[in-house]
Amino acid sequence: MTKAISILGSTGSVGVQALSVCQSLELNVVALTANKNIDLIEKQAREFCPEIISVSKETDAIELSKRLAGTRIDVLYGSDGLNAAATISSADTVLTAIVGIAGLWPTLAAIAASKKIALANKETLVAGGRLVIDEAQKYSVDIIPVDSEHSAIFQSLQGNSISEIERIIITASGGPFRGFSKKQLTKVTVEDALINPNWVMGNKITIDSATLMNKGFEVIEAAYLFGIPAGKIECIVHPQSIIHSMVEYCDSSIIAQMGLPNMMLPIQYALTYPKRSINKLERANFEKISSLTFEKPDTDVFPCLRLAYDALKEGGNATAIINSANEAAVELFLNNQITFVDIPFVIEKALNKCTHITNPQFEDIILTDIESREFVRKEFKK
Ligand code: NDP
Repeated sequence: MTKAISILGSTGSVGVQALSVCQSLELNVVALTANKNIDLIEKQAREFCPEIISVSKETDAIELSKRLAGTRIDVLYGSDGLNAAATISSADTVLTAIVGIAGLWPTLAAIAASKKIALANKETLVAGGRLVIDEAQKYSVDIIPVDSEHSAIFQSLQGNSISEIERIIITASGGPFRGFSKKQLTKVTVEDALINPNWVMGNKITIDSATLMNKGFEVIEAAYLFGIPAGKIECIVHPQSIIHSMVEYCDSSIIAQMGLPNMMLPIQYALTYPKRSINKLERANFEKISSLTFEKPDTDVFPCLRLAYDALKEGGNATAIINSANEAAVELFLNNQITFVDIPFVIEKALNKCTHITNPQFEDIILTDIESREFVRKEFKK
């Protein structure tokens, strides 16, 4: 069980909920980081009194230092600050809740410092894949999933053996455009895409949920986290989001983890594992949940899921290519520079055109990130 925690990305959707969990579990919060939301991190710093906080820019750090004068909190910035938060000696656990590939480097630093990882940042395993798992093994570090689907799989695995798994079934809400035709998708706006039927999340993951790239990333994350090949991982659309994922075993038994959709539970489980802890979360009432339904995801209308499987099957840096192409494309979409249907189109192009590397090392992933983003930006400058 976690006692002292560093939270990377404390001002985001997962970060804010994680702090609430820390409060109810009475954990010692020793470090917090943000990108640029200095008002919120100041408020969090005053409330939780960590040893250090870190933000991206030096100017923001100077401003925060002035605001927090008289406290004992050290204000840091940039990659050194992030690194300090990821490796701080007083933390036994680092919760990685930064969005995007920016979360990869501090996660690797935390692993090398032998911290237990509570992993929310799915891009870490999508881009870093084998490298991250190898590092975790090298330093004997546990990676406990925070993502609700992986937490469900992890919980369904307790007491069972990975070698007995027949298949993993990852559930998906289907996002706001479930049932849409290709033609209907050409007209959707950023505002439409930013509404998720069941989960309140940061903007990037909400768009990923709408394109089904989020589900694709979860397939990749599950493959690396649990050591399961792509052919044994299935996705099913389950609009009620009550079953968070399932594991089928060799004897045909299926074990599922269920509950009302609320990220507080998987965050809490990652911090209390291997124990459970009482909380005040709303309980599921099966008389009110009249039906649980399932449907096949439409990869013709939502090609991102197929692209994720393609990249996973190929291996090497292919998943890093789609990760960075997706980040660049989602950013352009959020800025109204491309349409929703341009997102899978350009990711597929990047997957076909960027340099493929069989056994990528740390530097290869950095170069892949640069090349893939650059490719997407150039495509839309034409
Ligand atoms: P948000 O966008 O809400 O928060 C992101 C956090 O990362 C913020 O604290 C932000 O700081 C910080 N940040 C952003 N960019 C950088 C950067 N370049 N360097 C350092 N810090 C940065 O994201 P979410 O909380 O929704 O998601 C976080 C991660 O967890 C993602 O990888 C997502 O896929 C995953 N996840 C999220 C779930 C959810 O329910 N939200 C569920 C499962 C997984 P600032 O606020 O200052 O910008």
